[in-house]
Amino acid sequence: MTEKDERRYHVSKSNKHPRSVRMTDIAVSAHNLHKSFPVPDATSVEVLHGISCSIEQGRMTSMVGPSGSGKSTALLCLAGLESATSGQVTLMGRDLNALSPAKIAKLYRDKVGFVFQSYNLVPYLSVRENIAVSDTLAGRRSDQRRLEEVLSRLRLESRANSLTSTLSGGEQQRVALGRILYRRPAIVFADEPTGALDTRSASVVLYELRRLADEGATVVLVTHDLNAASLADSVMILRDGHIISRLDSGISSEILLSIMNNAVEGE
Ligand code: ADP
Ligand code: MG
Repeated sequence: MTEKDERRYHVSKSNKHPRSVRMTDIAVSAHNLHKSFPVPDATSVEVLHGISCSIEQGRMTSMVGPSGSGKSTALLCLAGLESATSGQVTLMGRDLNALSPAKIAKLYRDKVGFVFQSYNLVPYLSVRENIAVSDTLAGRRSDQRRLEEVLSRLRLESRANSLTSTLSGGEQQRVALGRILYRRPAIVFADEPTGALDTRSASVVLYELRRLADEGATVVLVTHDLNAASLADSVMILRDGHIISRLDSGISSEILLSIMNNAVEGE
């Protein structure tokens, strides 16, 4: 990687473009969300204790907190991949409790993207084919110009025709993100997308998530990495199944650390 590349991948909030969306538009909101899981030897254990939040459209919001604080569960409930035990989630203006599985599937197809720590690629397809897989599934021709642009943006040109099973973890996650850049969903949910990556790929992934938000998408990032979390416009700090704090300005990894440490000392 050249010094120029290093600079290109340096992720910074100073890269932000002016936003054209209204800040008051809400992409996803939760009201008094509880989530319990059944456990052996007990009826259930509650891991989310009445979470309420609003996530604004066209912004990057991160959810940060220690391992086991309920970040992934909260993200899955907000995205509708897990059903909450009680409470309400509104995603892109739809009450998830009231939507049939078919309607939720359509909403995902049209408007929602996911990036997880596991890459969920099709191993017997090439990088190029994985990135445009949404077109193949819909029986559409792929947009070659957009495909080339995405390959270039993610520095995957030289791997375009390789099977994804032959790529490194970092390259595979860039392909997973490539599917998102290609589809341009209105909202992207990412759960620890850089958790298993080398530094360079982690920077590329974070840079592109930040850029997606700068271009108008809503990005919800779950992470335990305070530096990654601090790239967001808004940060929710979770602890033991509660949102203990929310910051909408003055976000830095030092401030996040200080809030988290104070929450531990205050117990
Ligand atoms: P985080 O992502 O912050 O590490 P999680 O949301 O994964 O936290 O987990 C929060 C708590 O919920 C943990 O105690 C975890 O063991 C529990 N939990 C998560 N998923 C399940 C499940 N499917 N069944 C039972 N317990 C679960
Ligand atoms: Mg998690």
